[in-house]
Amino acid sequence: MSLDPYQGKRDFRQTPEPKGAPRPRRRRGQPRFVVHKHAASRLHYDLRLEMGGVLKSWAVPKGPSVDPADKRLAVMVEDHPLEYADFEGAIPAGEYGAGTVIIWDEGSYQVVGDDALAALAGGELKVQLAGRKLRGGWVLVRTKWRGEDRNWLLIKEKDDHARPGEDILVQQANSARSGRTLEEIAAPGE
Ligand code: MN
Repeated sequence: MSLDPYQGKRDFRQTPEPKGAPRPRRRRGQPRFVVHKHAASRLHYDLRLEMGGVLKSWAVPKGPSVDPADKRLAVMVEDHPLEYADFEGAIPAGEYGAGTVIIWDEGSYQVVGDDALAALAGGELKVQLAGRKLRGGWVLVRTKWRGEDRNWLLIKEKDDHARPGEDILVQQANSARSGRTLEEIAAPGE
């Protein structure tokens, strides 16, 4: 697990994003997950799962869906530092990923099975999310879409937390951490 790709893309004199500690403090209890809502050049969501001392990360262009009929493309991106789970803020124009970021959802998760990293390497990861918005069973499955093996699909499993036909991104648009909107974080105090 290396944060070199993450750190190499960013100028930490310019961006308020965390650089990440070389050796993160060990945390007890269940691993965390976060979904960032990121108003970059194109609005998207980023799913991050704490695993192996980093946040494994996927950019989800259309965001997660609570409808099991929806299969949402999730493109694996560089590992992010654990501290990123607490990041909300505005990345300045000209910097990598410029735009506003909110913690759209957060909580803990459990892997179904016992080895998350092995499941990830095998291309199918089943998790139980205990977030403020996203709950219950979800699956991430790798798919060679246009020959790219960093493409995965994020799918809600059919359970009591599934909501066919509903759009949780519209129903609950604000930060799960602060209740703020993207606009309030982009222009604080206005
Ligand atoms: Mn992003």
